[in-house]
Amino acid sequence: MDPRKPIVGVMPLWDEEKDSLWMLPGYLDGIAEAGAIPIILPFATGEAELKQLMSMCDGLLFTGGQDVSPSLYREEPLSGLVHCCNKRDTMEVAALRIAVEADKPILGICRGIQLINACLGGTLYQDIPSQHPSDTNHHGTMPYDRPVHEVAVLPNTPLYELLQKKRIGVNSYHHQAIKDLATSLRTMAVSDDGIIEAVYMPGRRFLWAVQWHPEFSYKVDEPSRKIFRSFVEAMEEQ
Ligand code: MN
Repeated sequence: MDPRKPIVGVMPLWDEEKDSLWMLPGYLDGIAEAGAIPIILPFATGEAELKQLMSMCDGLLFTGGQDVSPSLYREEPLSGLVHCCNKRDTMEVAALRIAVEADKPILGICRGIQLINACLGGTLYQDIPSQHPSDTNHHGTMPYDRPVHEVAVLPNTPLYELLQKKRIGVNSYHHQAIKDLATSLRTMAVSDDGIIEAVYMPGRRFLWAVQWHPEFSYKVDEPSRKIFRSFVEAMEEQ
């Protein structure tokens, strides 16, 4: 048996105050526990550099973080409510294009689902409380490994196939969300107030994204572990 484990390129988090890259251990540990080796990528933006980096990675994890720049979906930012990191956006858009082109397994989490949707032609709610107010609590507080709202898992989707559950509880820590879904994506889970919480791209080895945070919940939540495992399995199959 091939002892080689797949390598997952993980998008770095950005601390604006400290002007530094950082990482939450759950992203790395969740991936490692699922059987792959995570590596934190730099903010490289040169096309050739990125292609070389992408060629070292069997899959990519798009992590949470700053708001996706509204310029990616042709809108002006709502003043005071949107906080972006341009160098993350630039690098992630380029990395996503290369990875989609090469059909590498991709998992998006929180900002990741938003970045993927915007990059593929969809749009976002820039701020849920002001643009889509509801009784659903999308902005949970500590501890982040506990569910704060439920989502309906849609039948005939790969997420339903994986979990065999019509409803699951999820954690939630976001003030933005998908508004118009990119035409190449399909919805896999929706919250009770109609927010799209999980998507996939049909016809791909694995392009999934979730609005919740399996990196916070994988230790206590089986669906979170199954999502990481499913992502890693897609890389093992190549
Ligand atoms: Mn939510």
